[in-house]
Amino acid sequence: MQSLVEKYNVPGPRYTSYPTVPFWKNNSLSVADWLKTIERNSNTFDTDDISLYIHLPYCESLCTFCGCHKRITKNHAVEGPYIDAVIKEWQLYNEQFNFTPVIRELHFGGGTPTFFAPDELIRLVRAIFNTDAIDPNEAELSFEAHPNNTSREHLEKLHAFGFRRLSLGIQDYSPTVQQAINRIQPFEDVKKVHEQAKQIGYTSISHDLVFGLPKQRMNDIIDTVTKTLELRPDRIALYSYAHVPWIKGNGQRGYDESDLPQDNEKRSLYEKAKSMLEAKGYIEIGMDHFALPHDDLAKAFQDKNLHRNFMGYTTQNTDFLLGLGMSSISDSWFGFAQNEKSTEKYMEIVNSGVIPIFRGHVLSELDLEIRGYILDLMCHFETTLKADSPYKEVQDAIIGRLTEMVNDGLVVIEENKVCVTEIGIPFVRNCCMAFDQDLADKGQRENLFSKTI
Ligand code: SF4
Repeated sequence: MQSLVEKYNVPGPRYTSYPTVPFWKNNSLSVADWLKTIERNSNTFDTDDISLYIHLPYCESLCTFCGCHKRITKNHAVEGPYIDAVIKEWQLYNEQFNFTPVIRELHFGGGTPTFFAPDELIRLVRAIFNTDAIDPNEAELSFEAHPNNTSREHLEKLHAFGFRRLSLGIQDYSPTVQQAINRIQPFEDVKKVHEQAKQIGYTSISHDLVFGLPKQRMNDIIDTVTKTLELRPDRIALYSYAHVPWIKGNGQRGYDESDLPQDNEKRSLYEKAKSMLEAKGYIEIGMDHFALPHDDLAKAFQDKNLHRNFMGYTTQNTDFLLGLGMSSISDSWFGFAQNEKSTEKYMEIVNSGVIPIFRGHVLSELDLEIRGYILDLMCHFETTLKADSPYKEVQDAIIGRLTEMVNDGLVVIEENKVCVTEIGIPFVRNCCMAFDQDLADKGQRENLFSKTI
């Protein structure tokens, strides 16, 4: 395993989309062209189901490991105007849709959604759904909860509206690591929010952990996973820390590269956590996720219904993800579009009555075929090459690029079927890279992605 980690730990995408964002072709996609891809979606697929992602960007302080689009402020006067803008953006889309969207899932991400007062969040969902509460069986509602500022009022009011899922950002419980990443949150505080949420009736609680953080050592991972198991969340995300200071600027320069566990040491942190979680009944799902067998994510993985989009893994297999708020990315299956990344500019454009995208990509037929393969691999660790594909040469080239992984026992190819083996699972991103036509055409470019392991 050790030499495989050294061999395959190269910069590579996380494949929440294909083509990946750095290879999008339309740096100034027009709103009209973007809307045409949505129209193609509604003309192609039977349902009007959509997923909604709402980005709530404000945080009170900067965590130095953070790779999200956020604005740091302690001024809570920003809440109202921002929520107004998101509601307005939703209205702008509804004026353009030639169908009535049925929202199957909604997720508040950030930033820190719980930076916002509970009543502001409720005002937002009331305006989106046009009702005072929704049936949790009709739509899956979830939010990211910062353990340091999620109040009982947040939990109660969102639950009363219909929210049943939340994810708590944990990272690591070691005081040394917490100091290095400037995010101090003792276990007792997390425990309090977790237990309140359980008591109120949330049915799926996720804990987000990160491995590979600065100053993180094996004992820290063991202690963090032990504490996590004490609370036994339904889902656990175990993300690899993505060190990309050339993209994220000063936020990730608060520590030295020598503080970071590298290659084999980093991978062994993951392997240790994984073995501890599996020993307690968690199932590894896709890449870097675990769930207890009763959880919908585990069931979807076992039933091969798992889906992956810009929000990560999801059980709701809708064909259209609409992202609202600054920097959000939307996916109409036939196209991608990203909103303005500056909060001020986002609000200014929305308030002038214009959909605030600034770049995107319209997928070619080849893009669509390859995105299907990559989605299969990321969700199910296997895919079948289309027998009636007009892109046989591309398929042959993919098989050629997989040869080394086959020789290393990471991938098995039988006729048209490509399967990632048990030992190949940590290298699934590398397998997807063999399918990635943009990487094949343009080569790996430095400083675009974090390392795959
Ligand atoms: S990790 Fe979360 S709370 Fe911390 S700065 Fe990033 S978005 Fe804000």
